[in-house]
Amino acid sequence: MTESYVIIGDGIAGSSAAETLREEAPDADITVITDEGEALYNRILIKEFAKGKLPEAPISIHDESWYDERDVELRLNTHVKNLDPDAHTLETHEEEVIDYDKLLVATGGTPTQLPVDNSDAEGIHHFWTFQDARRIKESAESGEKAVIVGAGLLGIDLAAISGAQDIEAKYLMRGDAWWRYALSVEGAEIMHNAMRDIGVEPVFGSGVDHFETDDDGHVTAAVDPNGDRFECDWAGVAIGLNFNTEILQGTGVKQDDGVLVDQHMQSNVDDIYAAGDLTRFYDTILGEYGQNGSWGSAKEQGTIAAKNMVDPESAEFRWVSSYSITHFDFPFLSFGHPTIGDDEVEKKYSDTEYRRLALKDGKIVGGVLIGDLAPQSAYKRLMKEERVVGDQKEVLMQKKFDPDDLAPTQEQ
Ligand SMILES: Cc1cc2nc3c(=O)[nH]c(=O)nc-3n(C[C@H](O)[C@H](O)[C@H](O)COP(=O)(O)OP(=O)(O)OC[C@H]3O[C@@H](n4cnc5c(N)ncnc54)[C@H](O)[C@@H]3O)c2cc1C
Repeated sequence: MTESYVIIGDGIAGSSAAETLREEAPDADITVITDEGEALYNRILIKEFAKGKLPEAPISIHDESWYDERDVELRLNTHVKNLDPDAHTLETHEEEVIDYDKLLVATGGTPTQLPVDNSDAEGIHHFWTFQDARRIKESAESGEKAVIVGAGLLGIDLAAISGAQDIEAKYLMRGDAWWRYALSVEGAEIMHNAMRDIGVEPVFGSGVDHFETDDDGHVTAAVDPNGDRFECDWAGVAIGLNFNTEILQGTGVKQDDGVLVDQHMQSNVDDIYAAGDLTRFYDTILGEYGQNGSWGSAKEQGTIAAKNMVDPESAEFRWVSSYSITHFDFPFLSFGHPTIGDDEVEKKYSDTEYRRLALKDGKIVGGVLIGDLAPQSAYKRLMKEERVVGDQKEVLMQKKFDPDDLAPTQEQ
């Protein structure tokens, strides 16, 4: 009998799974269901579109013929609302019931709304889809002032869009630095200066107490917990993701701030796999459960899940993820899990060059490089090899880091 594979979500995780499934199972029935109105596009590049730097076309990755050519059935504008693992069926918003033999949940997340008054006002944008990017671009092209909230990797994209569109923006942060869990104030200062250079003013010890609106319900200002008021024509909020896991309610699939999967992307329920941003996966490098929110990781998880759906436990996810920022005239890269660990080492080399490594049990578990990305592959390799290097911090921070300068690993 022909095996049927169903994938929910046509982001990079779902789409790469479909591609691998077709390679591994030439005769299988493969269906990809997405509630978006367009097939896979490059989510990473929608910021460049919102900046006004890229037209729409290059952002699209697959058109519908890509699925036809691979004999993959693509269902656009279709929201899956229920799942019955015993019957091996799912139900769409139009009450259509679809059978599966093996299912991949690759539904990603939806941006979290600020829990404050008027956070759903007109002109307050969250940033995840192409549609969001179109709306942000429109606001940025017509407005003069903006407020940005969320001192992380997505917030800085909103700040860069403001800068590129000549908006005068205030970037409200709760702490004293951008991405304070991954960088020290010293390192973050490089980013703060770069923001100022493009007309975005970081405001520390701030945040949003509530938004003000006009009579039409359009945002006019953000008021922070200190009572300071920041006028704006629009606001961009990026404070995190809520994973799209409603369909898993009552299915017995275990979750813990993400769908729990092993290193094979298999959940605890037979024939249900998960991949991409929404997983909390067993990280064989860390030796504990971990989470990634990056394009490369989601792609690899989709591929690994597909291999295991066809041939159980045949492939393992073992991956050091990376995430780069290209908005400024110096490069920025974070890798692994820079916000965890029990030790760290950092060094600022100049006004635009900085490095920080997060360590756990003496092993590198993540890091941030600003200005010079040359050592990234060596650091990532040491992380993947789980090499104990925490006692050689000076060598690790050498400007021209050479792993051959590290003392040989002692037997543990
Ligand atoms: C603006 C922006 C910039 C980014 N920049 C970078 C970067 O520079 N580098 C990097 O590594 N990462 C970046 N990322 C993160 C990266 O894009 C994500 O990690 C990656 O896209 C996650 O892929 P995914 O397939 O897991 O989920 P998603 O891409 O979120 O795909 C999930 C899909 O499932 C659909 N869906 C959800 N629920 C249902 C349902 N019930 N029924 C049907 N369909 C459903 C959703 O609509 C969506 O299309 C960025 C993200 C954004 C938004």
